Amino acid sequence: MDFQFTPDEEQFRGEIRDFLKQQLPDGWADRAFVGDVEQDERDELSRFVTKQLADRDWLAMAWPKEYGGLDATHMQQLIYNEETSYSAMPGGGGMGVAWVGPAVMLYGNEEQKEQYLPWITNGDDIWCTLYSEPGAGSDLAALQTRAERDGDEYVINGSKIWTSGGHLANMGWLAARTDPHAPKHRGISTFVLPMDTPGVEVRPLTNLAGEHNFNEVFFENVRIPSTNLVGTENRGWYQVATALDFERSGVGAYAGGRRNMERLVHVAREDESLVQRNPASRYELADRWVELQVGFNIAYRIPHLQSQGIIPNHEASVSKLYGSELTQRIAGTGMHLLGLGGQMMPGSPHAALGGAFARTYLSSVSSTIAAGTSEIQRNIIAQRGLGLPRG
Ligand SMILES: Cc1cc2nc3c(=O)[nH]c(=O)nc-3n(C[C@H](O)[C@H](O)[C@H](O)COP(=O)(O)OP(=O)(O)OC[C@H]3O[C@@H](n4cnc5c(N)ncnc54)[C@H](O)[C@@H]3O)c2cc1C
Repeated sequence: MDFQFTPDEEQFRGEIRDFLKQQLPDGWADRAFVGDVEQDERDELSRFVTKQLADRDWLAMAWPKEYGGLDATHMQQLIYNEETSYSAMPGGGGMGVAWVGPAVMLYGNEEQKEQYLPWITNGDDIWCTLYSEPGAGSDLAALQTRAERDGDEYVINGSKIWTSGGHLANMGWLAARTDPHAPKHRGISTFVLPMDTPGVEVRPLTNLAGEHNFNEVFFENVRIPSTNLVGTENRGWYQVATALDFERSGVGAYAGGRRNMERLVHVAREDESLVQRNPASRYELADRWVELQVGFNIAYRIPHLQSQGIIPNHEASVSKLYGSELTQRIAGTGMHLLGLGGQMMPGSPHAALGGAFARTYLSSVSSTIAAGTSEIQRNIIAQRGLGLPRG
């Protein structure tokens, strides 16, 4: 087994690092970590970086050239994801690049590809994903939002929840029920929903760490043209399932984890009293470091499988489960190392490292829920990976 990146891949990594050095302000990742960044500054930088990436055709680099990508290899995409996550780069292609575009390529017709894909690759359209509902998360096929055919239009009624970036997006990728009488997996369809359509209302939700990242979205007699249906009516469930596979194969958690571990190791070396006061924290740090190496190898396996023509499934669940839980463990280790000050939130005069680890600890809980909870990942690994019967 060859664990080395090729010289071309190393060169590519160097190009990405140069780009990030040029485009991001000095000390950006650390300022963002301790919350020393105003929302306006982040939004402006995000738009700027996204445009710079689009100009280089890097925004959707793994897409085929005919759709505005670079035909980059899966390994190049992983290197890009790793470096941009490590640098806490704002912006990038988001959900449009990660799964809406790939789903449109697979299931959309030619007009839809022409209508939607160029605006994703040039960074103009920002997408959100409208799947989850108050009664449909893990059991997504239970979703109740209705899309009723009325002549040349569909009329949407219902609501969605936990819509990440719904307040920033101009385009929505919607799963709605088109046949209420069919078995639940067979009556769902997927649609493109411009977020400024009359009858769409976005209401903010605040997470455990006090941040506004996701929303509730309500639809009241929202009319969209029937041409916004993507793929075959009532086959949407199977399209969504494929799109979720695109969602679960990231290396970002490990890259962010490495940055946080480096911060902790740095502070433990600088201030020896931290380790003297809590000698067990040395072992904790060592354990997290080992887990991080394991995690990177799990993540690197995903593009390796893809390059062999295999679509990762339970393998992606292993990566998602391990990465999201490791993110939480690293944040916990940070709080143990930093002592009581490590548990104080930003704004407290007693907060260690500006309260960044306490905030990370709280916000890291959500990564074990988003894109399928840890229990659901374990179910997938047990059934599809280990061949165990359903519980
Ligand atoms: C940060 C964040 C961002 C998100 N962004 C989006 C988004 O942009 N768009 C979107 O549509 N959704 C989004 N979601 C929603 C996310 O996909 C759901 O929260 C997730 O699928 C879980 O669904 P639920 O919250 O309804 O929990 P439930 O499904 O009600 O689960 C509750 C608990 O029961 C457990 N459970 C449920 N079923 C089983 C089972 N079969 N076996 C074992 N345990 C089970 C779960 O693991 C969990 O612990 C986001 C969520 C978060 C936290």
